[in-house]
Amino acid sequence: MLDLVVIDGKARGIIARNLLTGELERHSAHCVIIATGGYGNVFYLSTNAMGSNVTAAWRAVKRGALMANPCFTQIHPTCIPQSGDYQSKLTLMSESLRNDGRVWVPKNVNDAKAIREGKKTALDIKEEDRDYYLERRYPAFGNLVPRDVASRAAKIECDKGLGVSPTGLAVYLDFTSAIERYGKAEANVKGMINATNAQIVEMGTKVVADKYGNLFEMYEKIAGENPYIYPMKIYPAVHYTMGGLWVDYNLETNVRGLFALGEANFSDHGANRLGASALMQGLADGYFVAPYTIGQFLANEIRTGEINTSMPEFEEAEKSTRQRIDALMNVKGNQSVESFHRRLGKIMWDLCGMSRNKEGLLEGRQMIRTLRDEFYKDVYVPGSSTDFNPELEKAYRVADFLELGELMMLDALEREESCGGHFREEFQTPEGEAQRNDDDFTFVAAWEWDDTQPKLIKEDLVFENVKLIQRSYK
Ligand SMILES: Cc1cc2nc3c(=O)[nH]c(=O)nc-3n(C[C@H](O)[C@H](O)[C@H](O)COP(=O)(O)OP(=O)(O)OC[C@H]3O[C@@H](n4cnc5c(N)ncnc54)[C@H](O)[C@@H]3O)c2cc1C
Repeated sequence: MLDLVVIDGKARGIIARNLLTGELERHSAHCVIIATGGYGNVFYLSTNAMGSNVTAAWRAVKRGALMANPCFTQIHPTCIPQSGDYQSKLTLMSESLRNDGRVWVPKNVNDAKAIREGKKTALDIKEEDRDYYLERRYPAFGNLVPRDVASRAAKIECDKGLGVSPTGLAVYLDFTSAIERYGKAEANVKGMINATNAQIVEMGTKVVADKYGNLFEMYEKIAGENPYIYPMKIYPAVHYTMGGLWVDYNLETNVRGLFALGEANFSDHGANRLGASALMQGLADGYFVAPYTIGQFLANEIRTGEINTSMPEFEEAEKSTRQRIDALMNVKGNQSVESFHRRLGKIMWDLCGMSRNKEGLLEGRQMIRTLRDEFYKDVYVPGSSTDFNPELEKAYRVADFLELGELMMLDALEREESCGGHFREEFQTPEGEAQRNDDDFTFVAAWEWDDTQPKLIKEDLVFENVKLIQRSYK
C-alpha cells in the first residue's frame, strides 16, 4: 500500500503497487484497515523482519491521521550483538533465556579489555571478579527485571568499558549456574548421592538443552561459540514500537473509516510494552474488537453504494504516488538507498535510542533534515518503476522513515520525563532510574504531520483504578 484514498472525510480505498509488475493499482472499499506492523526498522538494525516499514501508516498520516507516541520504542535486552558495520539485521534470543541465564560483566576493565582482545575468555574470570549487575542492583527481580531496565543496565556497563565483545557492546548471559542447579536436582531425583561434577554437568546440560536447545543451536550457528561452555554474549536491540497510528476505543483513527490494528496502532501498550504480549494485542484487535466496531461503522454505511475507483480522489492519489516514485527514480545520484538507511539508523540509535537528551535530540532532528535533503539530491535507485524493483521499494520506505525519524526526535524532545520505553538522561533519579513527571506528561502525544513544524495534540489520560507510581525493582 502506497497511499490512502480519502473521500468526503472517509477512508475509501488505497493505492497499491504490485511488487511483481510495478503496476499501480486502485482498490476501493467502504472502510480501510491498516495492520501493517511496527516501524522498528527506522533504526536500520532491529529484530524486525527486513520488510517491516512505516509506509502504510505514514501515508495515512500524510492524509490526516495522527501518529501517537512515536518515540516510545521497546529495546529488547537479549539479542545477539552486532558484529560489524555492514550488518543489516539483528537476531533476538528469546526472553525466556533470562529465566535461567545470569547476566554479568567482568568487574575489572582490564579483564574486559583482555576479553575483547581475545587474550582471555569468560572462563578465565573468577567468580569473585564477575559483576552480576542485575542481581546486585535489583535484588528483588534480579535477571528478570523488565526489558527497558535490563537494556539500559547493559548499556551502562558497556559505557563503563566493561563490554565483552570486540565492539565493546555485549554482556554475558551465563547458564553455568542453571546447568549446575538442574544437574544437582536430577542427581537427587535419581538418588545419585555421590554424583561427580562431570555427571552433574552432563545431566544439567541435558535439562537446559531440553528447555532451550533450539535457541542454543541458533546462537552457536550465528556466534560460532558453544553457549553450553562459553556464556552467550548479548546486547539490547530495537524490537517493538509502542507508538503508531492514534486510534480510539473502536480502533478507528481520526480519519473516519480508517482503522488500525496490531503493532501499527499505538493502543494498549502505551509507553510500556515492558514484557506484555504484542501478539495478544494483535489477536484481541483482530478477533474481538474490529469485527464489532467495524461492523458498527459499516452498518451506518448501508446506503453507500459501490465506491468507484475512477473518482477524482483516486485519480489524485494515484498521480501523487506516481510523482513520488518518479521523483525517487529521477534523482540518479551516487549513493545507495541502503547507505542512507544505515546513516539514518545510526542517528536514531545514537540520539533517540536507549537513552536520549535534549542536546542530542535537537542535533538529531537537524541531522535527519540534512540527511533527507541529501537523499533527494543524491540517492540512486537502479532499475525501472514499471517492473519488479526491490530497490525502489526500499527507497520509498526509507523516504518515509526519514520523516518519521524526525517526528520521533521531536516527540522524545517534547516529553521531558522518563517513562517506559523513553529514557531522558536529564530526568533520572539519583540511582539512575527513570524519573516520571505525571503532573505534566500524563497524555498521549498525537502528532499531526507538517513538513516544517508538526503539531502536537494532547489526549489526557485519566486513570480511575490505577495509581500512577514510580516503578521499583529493588
Ligand atoms: C523476532 C521477534 C520475536 C517476537 N516475539 C514475540 C513474542 O514472543 N510474543 C509477542 O507477543 N510478540 C512478539 N513479537 C512481536 C510481535 O510478533 C509483533 O508485534 C506482531 O507480529 C505484530 O503483528 P501485526 O499483525 O500487527 O504486524 P506484522 O506481523 O508485522 O504484520 C504486518 C504485515 O503487513 C505487511 N505490510 C507492511 N507494510 C505494508 C504495506 N505498505 N503494504 C502492504 N503490506 C504491508 C507486512 O509485510 C506484514 O505481512 C516478536 C517480534 C519479533 C520481530
